[in-house]
Amino acid sequence: MPLEQSELSLGSRARSLDLFERETFDLAIIGGGITGAGIALDAAARGLSVALVEKRDFASGTSSRSSKLIHGGLRYLEQMDFRLVREALVERATLNRVAPHLSSPLGFLVPVYGSGKRSPLGSSRLKLKLGLSLYDLLAGRRNIAPHRWIARDEALHIAPALDSEGLRGCFLYYDCLTDDARLVIEVIKAAAARGAAVANYAAARGLSGESGRVSAIAVEDLIGGRSLSLRARVVINATGAWAGEVAGLSGEDSTIRLRPSKGIHVVLPSEKIGSRAAVLIPSLGEQRFLFVIPWLGRTMIGTTDTDYAGDIDDPRVEDREIEQVLKSAARAFPDARISTDDVISVFAGLRPLVAGNGGATSELSRKEEIIESDSGLISIIGGKLTTYRKMAEQTVDIVARRLGRSSRSATGEIELAGGAIPEREWKEAARRAATEFRIESGIAEHLVRSYGGNYRAVLEIASASEELKARLVEDLPHIEAEVVYAARSEMAATVEDFLARRTRIALLARDHGRSCAARVAALMGCELPQIY
Ligand SMILES: Cc1cc2nc3c(=O)[nH]c(=O)nc-3n(C[C@H](O)[C@H](O)[C@H](O)COP(=O)(O)OP(=O)(O)OC[C@H]3O[C@@H](n4cnc5c(N)ncnc54)[C@H](O)[C@@H]3O)c2cc1C
Repeated sequence: MPLEQSELSLGSRARSLDLFERETFDLAIIGGGITGAGIALDAAARGLSVALVEKRDFASGTSSRSSKLIHGGLRYLEQMDFRLVREALVERATLNRVAPHLSSPLGFLVPVYGSGKRSPLGSSRLKLKLGLSLYDLLAGRRNIAPHRWIARDEALHIAPALDSEGLRGCFLYYDCLTDDARLVIEVIKAAAARGAAVANYAAARGLSGESGRVSAIAVEDLIGGRSLSLRARVVINATGAWAGEVAGLSGEDSTIRLRPSKGIHVVLPSEKIGSRAAVLIPSLGEQRFLFVIPWLGRTMIGTTDTDYAGDIDDPRVEDREIEQVLKSAARAFPDARISTDDVISVFAGLRPLVAGNGGATSELSRKEEIIESDSGLISIIGGKLTTYRKMAEQTVDIVARRLGRSSRSATGEIELAGGAIPEREWKEAARRAATEFRIESGIAEHLVRSYGGNYRAVLEIASASEELKARLVEDLPHIEAEVVYAARSEMAATVEDFLARRTRIALLARDHGRSCAARVAALMGCELPQIY
């Protein structure tokens, strides 16, 4: 079922805030990361009245700072968590069907060397073969393609800078890659198109209710400056690393004990490593591996997994963490001569892991937990980007039972982003768009890959003037019309919303988008006179 177009702007945000004051919703969700967005879509598609508040921008938390893999997870296979792997692989196939541009298949190389130390998953070919066969088996008949062994020369053809000394060959298996922040905004848009009232820059400051049951959220509108009360029959806390803090807003002693773990990524120019596939490499001095991932014309390397006790609002990347990642990459790709000067950008995200009994954070379960407190507040914590749809389905099943509604999730059939365009049709769609709208083919391809079926909406804006077809940054394919689209249809309110999440210019450009920030601000100013 393709999605209808819907406006999602500061105008619709203002209408959402008005509705918050007037209506009592079936469901109110705190948190606009992938978890909250997924729940909003699932519930709205079942016909529930839904409100969602996000204190900063959608996806500004962990959901824009992941490794961007839609995957079963070899790590979880190593931990023998077969149920999680199977569930994630089924979800990978579903997302690939409903939003192919947000879940595109990518090959992953697992190098095998004579020495176990340099092989990211050990040097036993038999053990790896068994593991990857199991991975294929768990993916079932909707697997992307079965894994295979490739000889040393073919591996070096795909990843020319890979250390060739002692290399016996590589296993090649497949998973999918996404743009996490765009996935969130597309799910939010799909929810809003089905009637969900959503607002970014709207923070939950308090929880209250009657007879000890939470039924109202005190919301602060961080753009308009007003305070309002949002009433709902069921309230969900989908605030990830902030879940303990938000659960405590009711005054009740929160039973949620989180142990945040930080993961960082480093972004390098793609020509530095020049691999056409993702590569698994050992993390120096650790019993774990890092992914080296070709992403949006750059190479992203990560991630780490360390206990974090700092400011949740602003997890920083430490120099020693960058050094650790770069040293690992330099050892795996010695001819690439990687140095800190190559770094384009870095980012850090927090895993909201539920505290266990000590031990390393990498040992803690990635499975989500749904906690129903005595006050009726439902908190959903942990999980993965990949399994957001299933997590949402399970959560809304609980909500529907509480509301006495019988309903089933429909999200497995809801196409995101204005209708799914299969990957095999991207090139042809881009070629036709380039001719019809008289734009460069590279720009057309970028728009199809970034916006799926909505690429035409961006191009229709661009057709208003030649200026709107202009690139924002010299060596990136993003154009001015995207700023207008983000303000009109994706509730972008600040320059950072556009540079960091509606597009990923902040991660892809060496100056993080400073050179085009004034132009972005001017374009947003025309669209959003109420705040500029
Ligand atoms: C380094 C790293 C790599 C990862 N890689 C992958 C991967 O490759 N694949 C995968 O499937 N998963 C991956 N994950 C896991 C995945 O990213 C997370 O499970 C997921 O993004 C969590 O989403 P969330 O919505 O629960 O939390 P968040 O995205 O953090 O969203 C919570 C939101 O709540 C908001 N909020 C907080 N307090 C309030 C308040 N008072 N009022 C209103 N809003 C509030 C925050 O601003 C935030 O936007 C990774 C995680 C990390 C840390």
